[in-house]
Amino acid sequence: MDKTSADTIAAIATPPGKGGIGIVRVSGPQVPSLIERYFGRPLPSRQAELRPFRDRGGEILDRGIAIFFEAPHSYTGEHVLELQAHGGPVVLSLLLRYMLELGARPARPGEFTERAFLNDKMDLAQAEAVIDLIDSSSEQAARAAARSLQGAFSHTVLQLKEKLIRLRMHIEAALDFPEEEIDFLADAELAGRMRELQLQLTEVSRSLRVGRLLKEGLSVLILGRPNAGKSSLLNRLAGREAAIVTEIAGTTRDVLREHIHIEGVPLHIIDTAGLRDSADPVEREGVRRAWAEVEQADHVLLIVDDRTGVSPEEEKIIQALPSDKPFDLIRNKIDLSGREPFVETIDVQRKTLGLSAKTGAGIELLLAHLKQHIGAGQTLENIVTARQRHIDAIAEVERHVSLAADQLKARQGELAAEELMLAQQTLGAIIGEFHSDDLLGEIFSSFCIGK
Ligand code: GDP
Repeated sequence: MDKTSADTIAAIATPPGKGGIGIVRVSGPQVPSLIERYFGRPLPSRQAELRPFRDRGGEILDRGIAIFFEAPHSYTGEHVLELQAHGGPVVLSLLLRYMLELGARPARPGEFTERAFLNDKMDLAQAEAVIDLIDSSSEQAARAAARSLQGAFSHTVLQLKEKLIRLRMHIEAALDFPEEEIDFLADAELAGRMRELQLQLTEVSRSLRVGRLLKEGLSVLILGRPNAGKSSLLNRLAGREAAIVTEIAGTTRDVLREHIHIEGVPLHIIDTAGLRDSADPVEREGVRRAWAEVEQADHVLLIVDDRTGVSPEEEKIIQALPSDKPFDLIRNKIDLSGREPFVETIDVQRKTLGLSAKTGAGIELLLAHLKQHIGAGQTLENIVTARQRHIDAIAEVERHVSLAADQLKARQGELAAEELMLAQQTLGAIIGEFHSDDLLGEIFSSFCIGK
């Protein structure tokens, strides 16, 4: 089972600082002999034992719970010892130091989880979910990470892979009978299965995007002329005084960020400088940065005064927005124009909303709309945590499968099979069937020590 390491690693597994309990974790082949030397006798596997924890001189430092997990029934798949002491930094450092003197070496960040991966306790996507769970900043993100950790995403990947393999085998079998090849490859059923696979990939990539939004949040960019009410809207959404609201045009020169949560989904609100042309170099710089932010944002709100509506200058801004950028027009200050809150649909991606940032009227319409945009609500139940690595990989798989479909249409069976093989390998890389040391280093180095 233990195919990884000859050496034994140790670390404090609980966060730095004081706490009720602190844990020192040791993993590796030398754990049983280390236990014998430390406690003077072996420990039974997977039983909590109350023991004195001594320092090197034999003096009792603390009394705590020692648990030995015999390989392979442990987090790492190796022999593991956990010492649960009182959570004081000095006690834990002394315990750790003793473990190091008994032959363990300090663990690198994420090394326990890396060993769990290398010992087949979890696949790579699950190992990544461990850190996403620890890092999650909202309930929804934590639930999505927990689903991934339990293997929901890996299961989907394996299912897709199986479909790919069956398709490829079908095509390769056809290639073995060249005289019938044309007929085999022209099979409508084959094309149908290919389409089905493509649809499923589209669905997976959609839900991964929602997963990434859950983890990283939706970046909502608020654009508008000075005094349109950007800061007021920001404050409304954030529920507190985040930006300085004044009546002098152009006060919010700098890009200002605010993070809020809507029902557990994080949202970043960015208030930018006004977009009008200006001779003032400071303001010009603000305008340039505002456009750079547009590129980055997941969703753009353009806010105008409902009394004056969209100016020709603003019309130009709307035209200049990338066509696939989700965008809404906010007609603010309806309390002054005397209108009721409203929503009008421009097209699938775009709506006009009438509201008042000052009185709060219509804000709930905007919140509901944003929530719908991120896919909050029921659909989140199946969302798994996702990283850019996964999104990129699925996009690559989609590319290969679409090329394969083209080749199939052109009756190029061999080329189609090759594309499917590449797609299959890319899927395998998501769960770590093939991995480079660089990739592992990149993933696990972002973990904390002791995890
Ligand atoms: P910004 O320059 O776009 O950030 O605009 P501000 O949020 O600073 O607002 C400019 C002025 O308009 C302030 O005096 C706000 O109180 C006022 N204002 C903003 N939204 C509304 C609104 O919905 N109704 C009314 N009556 N005043 C508003």
